Amino acid sequence: MSMTGMIRKVDELGRIVLPVELRNSLGIQTHDAVEIRMEDDDILLWKVHNCCTFCGAKENLHSYRTKQLCSNCLKQLHILHAEDED
Ligand SMILES: [Zn+2]
Repeated sequence: MSMTGMIRKVDELGRIVLPVELRNSLGIQTHDAVEIRMEDDDILLWKVHNCCTFCGAKENLHSYRTKQLCSNCLKQLHILHAEDED
């Protein structure tokens, strides 16, 4: 679902409200964690999934851009990358 043109005003404390349609679409619920990052002059915001994108593990997680991956999957990717360079 593509939602464009949503304009929200920042309040005195720097807060904005995420539109309910957007929260519902992304499955963002009260107390869920979101990560905020600045890229050039833009602000990126995404829901933090506390599990590995690839295997669903919930421990030893590392963030890469908007995804989480576990140490085991990260290690596997390093191995694949090293094999590609041989
Ligand atoms: Zn994993």
